[in-house]
Amino acid sequence: MGIAVVSGSASGIGAATRKRLEADGDKVVGIDIRNAEITADLSTPEGRATAISQALEACNGRIDRLVLSAGLSELHPLHLVVKVNYFGAMALLDGFREALKAGSDPSAVLLCSNSARMTSFEGNPFIEMLLEGDEARACAFIEESKNTFLAYAGGKFALGIAMRRRTPDFGAAGIRLNAIAPGPTKTPLLAEIKEDAVRTAGLEGLPNPLGRYATAEEIAASIAFLLGPDASYVHGVVLYADGGIDAALAPDRF
Ligand code: NAD
Repeated sequence: MGIAVVSGSASGIGAATRKRLEADGDKVVGIDIRNAEITADLSTPEGRATAISQALEACNGRIDRLVLSAGLSELHPLHLVVKVNYFGAMALLDGFREALKAGSDPSAVLLCSNSARMTSFEGNPFIEMLLEGDEARACAFIEESKNTFLAYAGGKFALGIAMRRRTPDFGAAGIRLNAIAPGPTKTPLLAEIKEDAVRTAGLEGLPNPLGRYATAEEIAASIAFLLGPDASYVHGVVLYADGGIDAALAPDRF
């Protein structure tokens, strides 16, 4: 039995991952803004600090598996999307590094998105602000731009890059680090997006080779694979679990 920490554990993919890890024998410490062992608002530095210190206490300073699933769709105020999806996730990843190092075959998975590669974000100043950790500038920039796609998909792109940049350091500490890029997954976040007619049309306009959306349990199964012994040599990967949408959009690159 191991010890897992899951952010966003109250709903959707985080809740399904929690159930899956518990079924596999882990003790899970959930972090969420509601209905979790640790209630914390990951949009604020204070909330992140509370989440980290309380989780470290609950786990006695040792974490075997970490899943960072807390997130907001782009229908929320854009500075909050950036604060939760990028800065909240990165604060927890870095804040739990030493506890992961003390864990047994430790690994972490970040929640990216298949939308992260639907356009080219390379060289975008907003992405640079995220990667530099400049939260105030990134939030001001995104509110000014009102660019919802950049806030959500660009933030997920930066998350994937930030994860890959950490692979030498985390690898040297014995911690495997990967991300998962789900396609549309039937959760409350997707239900919220589907209330918006323009976004629903955008989603339905995507090629969809498997012809359906994922369940949260399917994404949790891919996360469990990345966390577990069958992925013992998988490090620095963004795994697309999107029913082939990315491949259909960009068949000639990988
Ligand atoms: P969800 O809305 O079902 O769950 C998100 C969880 O994050 C909720 O429990 C919520 O309370 C928590 N959360 C939100 N703001 C928070 C805050 N300030 N502090 C702490 N917790 C907070 O969404 P989901 O679909 O399960 O999404 C999980 C992750 O997967 C997100 O990072 C999302 O971007 C990503 N994702 C989802 C889809 C999809 O189609 N559902 C696709 C690609 C990526």
